[in-house]
Amino acid sequence: MVQGMRNKRVHYKVIEKAHRLIKNGQVEQLDNGRYNVIGDHGTYNVVETPEGDLACNCPGYRDKGSCSHSTAVMMFTGKAKYL
Ligand SMILES: [Zn+2]
Repeated sequence: MVQGMRNKRVHYKVIEKAHRLIKNGQVEQLDNGRYNVIGDHGTYNVVETPEGDLACNCPGYRDKGSCSHSTAVMMFTGKAKYL
Protein backbone atom coordinates (compact mmCIF):
# COMPACT_ATOMS: atom_id res chain seq x y z
CA MET A 1 0.00 0.00 0.00
CA VAL A 2 1.35 3.38 -0.96
CA GLN A 3 0.47 6.39 1.10
CA GLY A 4 1.39 9.96 0.35
CA MET A 5 1.51 12.78 2.85
CA ARG A 6 -1.52 14.36 1.25
CA ASN A 7 -3.68 11.30 1.28
CA LYS A 8 -3.50 9.80 4.71
CA ARG A 9 -5.73 6.96 5.59
CA VAL A 10 -6.33 6.63 9.28
CA HIS A 11 -7.53 3.35 10.63
CA TYR A 12 -10.47 3.47 13.03
CA LYS A 13 -8.36 1.79 15.70
CA VAL A 14 -5.95 4.71 15.48
CA ILE A 15 -8.85 7.10 15.96
CA GLU A 16 -10.06 5.10 18.94
CA LYS A 17 -6.63 5.23 20.49
CA ALA A 18 -6.30 8.94 19.76
CA HIS A 19 -9.61 9.54 21.54
CA ARG A 20 -8.30 7.65 24.54
CA LEU A 21 -5.07 9.66 24.61
CA ILE A 22 -7.04 12.90 24.71
CA LYS A 23 -9.56 11.64 27.26
CA ASN A 24 -6.79 10.50 29.59
CA GLY A 25 -4.99 13.80 29.33
CA GLN A 26 -2.02 12.26 27.53
CA VAL A 27 -1.80 15.07 25.00
CA GLU A 28 -0.18 18.28 26.15
CA GLN A 29 0.76 21.39 24.27
CA LEU A 30 4.31 22.57 24.88
CA ASP A 31 4.20 25.77 22.87
CA ASN A 32 2.91 26.90 19.53
CA GLY A 33 2.91 23.92 17.20
CA ARG A 34 4.69 21.52 19.53
CA TYR A 35 3.04 18.78 21.55
CA ASN A 36 3.96 15.95 23.86
CA VAL A 37 1.95 12.78 23.58
CA ILE A 38 2.38 10.19 26.28
CA GLY A 39 1.87 6.97 24.40
CA ASP A 40 1.79 3.39 25.58
CA HIS A 41 5.42 2.86 24.62
CA GLY A 42 6.90 6.21 25.49
CA THR A 43 6.45 9.93 25.14
CA TYR A 44 6.57 11.27 21.62
CA ASN A 45 6.93 14.72 20.15
CA VAL A 46 4.43 15.88 17.60
CA VAL A 47 5.30 19.04 15.73
CA GLU A 48 3.50 21.14 13.17
CA THR A 49 5.34 21.25 9.88
CA PRO A 50 5.48 24.39 7.72
CA GLU A 51 2.98 22.67 5.43
CA GLY A 52 0.47 22.57 8.25
CA ASP A 53 0.91 18.86 8.64
CA LEU A 54 1.71 17.12 11.91
CA ALA A 55 4.82 14.99 12.23
CA CYS A 56 5.54 12.57 15.05
CA ASN A 57 8.86 11.02 15.99
CA CYS A 58 7.49 7.54 16.73
CA PRO A 59 8.40 4.51 14.60
CA GLY A 60 4.83 4.12 13.38
CA TYR A 61 4.78 7.60 11.90
CA ARG A 62 8.13 7.00 10.19
CA ASP A 63 6.78 3.82 8.63
CA LYS A 64 3.26 4.88 7.74
CA GLY A 65 3.15 8.66 7.80
CA SER A 66 0.41 8.62 10.40
CA CYS A 67 -0.01 7.43 13.95
CA SER A 68 -2.32 7.71 16.93
CA HIS A 69 -0.19 10.51 18.41
CA SER A 70 -0.38 12.85 15.43
CA THR A 71 -4.05 11.94 15.02
CA ALA A 72 -4.68 12.74 18.69
CA VAL A 73 -3.05 16.15 18.29
CA MET A 74 -5.12 16.78 15.17
CA MET A 75 -8.28 16.05 17.12
CA PHE A 76 -6.97 17.93 20.17
CA THR A 77 -6.38 21.09 18.17
CA GLY A 78 -9.66 20.79 16.31
CA LYS A 79 -7.94 20.34 12.96
CA ALA A 80 -9.82 17.10 12.47
CA LYS A 81 -13.34 17.85 13.65
CA TYR A 82 -14.70 15.29 11.24
CA LEU A 83 -13.11 12.42 13.14
ZN1 LIG B 1 3.41 8.85 16.76
